[in-house]
Amino acid sequence: MIQKIVFTLFFLTWAASTIAQIPLRYEQNESPTYSQTIEAYRYLDSIYAKAKLFTCGLSDSGHPLHLLVISVDEDFDPVSIKKKNKCTILINNGTHPGEPDGIDASIQLAIDILENKNKLQKYVQNTVICIVPVYNIGGQLNRSPYFRSNQNGPKEYGFRGNDKNYNLNRDFVKADALETRSLIEIFHRWQPEVFIDTHTSNGADYQYVMTLIATHHNLLDGGLKTFYKDKMLPHLYADMEKVGYPMIPYVNVWGTSPDNGFEGFMDTPRFASGYTSTFNTIAFVTETHMFKPYNQRVKSTYEFCLATLKFVSDNATELRKHKKEADEKTINNSEFVLQWRMDTVEHETLMFKGYEVKTKKSELTGQTRYYYDRNLPYEKPIPYYNIFHAQLSVKVPALYIIPQQWREVVHLLKISNIEMKRLAADTVLNVDAQYISDFENTDETYEGHYYHQNVQYTTQNCDVRFYKGDYVINPHQKGLKYLMQTLELDGGDSFFAWNFFDPILEQKEYFSPYVFEEVAIELLAKDAKLKQEFEHRKQNDAAFAKSAYAQLSFIYHHSVYYEPTHNRYPVFRFEAPMNLRVD
Ligand SMILES: [Zn+2]
Repeated sequence: MIQKIVFTLFFLTWAASTIAQIPLRYEQNESPTYSQTIEAYRYLDSIYAKAKLFTCGLSDSGHPLHLLVISVDEDFDPVSIKKKNKCTILINNGTHPGEPDGIDASIQLAIDILENKNKLQKYVQNTVICIVPVYNIGGQLNRSPYFRSNQNGPKEYGFRGNDKNYNLNRDFVKADALETRSLIEIFHRWQPEVFIDTHTSNGADYQYVMTLIATHHNLLDGGLKTFYKDKMLPHLYADMEKVGYPMIPYVNVWGTSPDNGFEGFMDTPRFASGYTSTFNTIAFVTETHMFKPYNQRVKSTYEFCLATLKFVSDNATELRKHKKEADEKTINNSEFVLQWRMDTVEHETLMFKGYEVKTKKSELTGQTRYYYDRNLPYEKPIPYYNIFHAQLSVKVPALYIIPQQWREVVHLLKISNIEMKRLAADTVLNVDAQYISDFENTDETYEGHYYHQNVQYTTQNCDVRFYKGDYVINPHQKGLKYLMQTLELDGGDSFFAWNFFDPILEQKEYFSPYVFEEVAIELLAKDAKLKQEFEHRKQNDAAFAKSAYAQLSFIYHHSVYYEPTHNRYPVFRFEAPMNLRVD
């Protein structure tokens, strides 16, 4: 017995001293390094049975991604946790390590929950907390006091890009970075009801410490949408006001003042929050204000995570019910909105706490510059343009077929938990194939890509040969919204837009004009309609009439010699169900 008491005393002393050693110095305007952060979580894992630190996949830096899970009944199996009807919150930190507020806040929150400070453990009885300590590990290792030129602390922090200079918060469709793939796998393994991504803002000046990008409610299905919009969001805003950190939606203005109002944020799946909302997971991006002292930014991030935990814990049954129903509704959706249009007239009104904007002559450039006068704070109503209407809806097909050679796309679908079957035998199917007719590229590389936009296409009925092993996808599954966003050409975040199918844009076979001329004459002789089109073009297009090659090329492109796969989008939509033999 004495031995046990001595051991317990020793253990408690040791535990207390290790907790104290965790280098949380946000009150001194400092943020921990990568190794200090992981070491902190290792301490927690070693001291508390209720915490477990996992490694989950790799990052481009070669370091594994870590995940700390806090589960009061010491059950760390996500399947078993779901069976117990618990909710899960996933907090992701350090996407942009120059914005490390959440790195500190999450360590503090984990310590406080595990130490049961203020009886916090009552909120994790029905809710499991998952924390990614640092997501962009390469960026966090690349530290400097200078990267965030306008930011007020901490003294030193990491860099925005990862080791390959990707912005990880634009990477959730293309998944160029290993970190992204690892986080996608974590997300699907734990299937959180709520996802929080912690950041710090740039842009305008105003009085708030905390601003919030919240999933646009239009992106959620069924009763989850109204539960979130009418109950959860107002509650979180009220709770943050109560603890001294009133919030405002993300102040989405650049190079101008917020006085005239600002636009809501419709997040698409390239963003972490947009990706998670396609699976009906409510997402929040906390954006603390860059000019506020670091300790306040950390505390407001902490308070937001805690407010979310309290709300989820108090409403766990209702949230789970709505999430389940939303997933069922998604599966049965027959249409999907791919493009939204912001209402520029109808709007919400926010009471906004800003600073008066004034202008003066710049001593540097001699030009007029604007500045915020912090001696003149104001509170006044401003318009908030957060009403979006469906601009373009697409019918959900009965199935898609993707030929197996598009391995990279298939891999990304797999890690996003998309169920696929494979053709059991070679077959030829009649299909309305889509042909890319036009698109624009970004002038400069964007996140490592010459991203395609304004994609135009035509549809052409043809027979296409498919092979045993090609992928057959019934889109009526939990990932329906993700499939529509990534496979449909009208989606701004389609795999096509992100260059996954670029080889199809290249013509591989050509003709020699001096040989093809005779063939062309024969082709026109046999095809009156083509001849008519050809003559019409010649008469109405001077450049065409002057170019022998353009004329031969026109005939070649309308002949059987022209390769049918050129510009043919290799994701095939089938509108009606088919009896295909699949494995
Ligand atoms: Zn950020």
